Formats: sequence, C-alpha cells, structure tokens
Amino acid sequence: MKNRKNLFFALIFTLLISICLPAYAYDLNDQYVGSNAYYYNYASVSPYQSHMNKVTTWNYQGAYVFLVNANTGGYNPNIYQDFLDIDNGYFGYAAPLNTRQTHITYYRAFKNGTPDEKDETVVHEVGHAIGLHHTQKINDINAVMRENGFNGKAYPLPDDKEGMKAKYGR
Ligand SMILES: [Zn+2]
Repeated sequence: MKNRKNLFFALIFTLLISICLPAYAYDLNDQYVGSNAYYYNYASVSPYQSHMNKVTTWNYQGAYVFLVNANTGGYNPNIYQDFLDIDNGYFGYAAPLNTRQTHITYYRAFKNGTPDEKDETVVHEVGHAIGLHHTQKINDINAVMRENGFNGKAYPLPDDKEGMKAKYGR
C-alpha cells in the first residue's frame, strides 16, 4: 500500500517537472563552423541588403559562434548568400558545400515575401549553415528553425540557442 502511494507521488512529481521544464526539440545537422563564421553576400542579394544583415542576429549575448561579414575580403567564407529569381516554392535553401561551407540561395517566394518573412528566412537559412536542422513540430513557436511557416520573430529563439549550445558549448 505504501509503495503504491509513493509511486503515485513519483508520477505526479515527474509530470510537474515535465510541465515546468521547457521541452527542447532542436535537431542538429553536420555543419560545423567553429567560433567565427564568415558570410559573403553576392551582388545578387544587394537589393535585399537590410534583410541579409539579419545574419548578425546570431551574434546574441552568450553566442558560441560569431558571424562576420567577409565581403571586405581576406576571409575564407563559410556562408555564401545568393538570389535566383525562379519559382520553386522555396523562400530559401541552404546547400552544404562541405561541413564548414554552405551556399544559401533565396528564391522568388523570398522576393515576393513581406519584409518580416525575408528577415526570418535569412535567420533560418543561416541557422542551417551554422549547424541546425529543423526543430521538431512540438517546438515550432520556440524556434526560428521551424520547418514550415513563420513565427514573426527574425532572430534565434530559445530552442535554437539550446541547439547551438549543444553543438558548440563544450
Ligand atoms: Zn529550413
């Protein structure tokens, strides 16, 4: 009888803990850029310069990776940003060249998107380039790395930061 009671309280306790703790759902990919990552903007993205600058939202307080513009030269870029005016349904796509370099292409849906959608797309694609895969659906509102749709927040969210910590914070 006593044991059963203890089991009951243990279950309640476990339930309370799981409700109180944030359930992280980030997923990592194979990209690894080290503590500094250099990004290069092709001339094709120059009409979207203000949106491209959202790359640096990854330089949040306590970040493990610091993103630096490589257009001034002298750097070996980790991230290339490009625009192609074709309609393939994608806002953007991050294609790894190897584990430390990624070519990001933005497409017509990006061009036709709202300014907020453009900003969030840039933050999202750069997230792929520095090591994050899509988060699990359960955490969509806590992640710029959600697979579908937008949060209206063009900066790394708690789930994204936990993912970066898991990858680089050792
Ligand atoms: Zn994605």
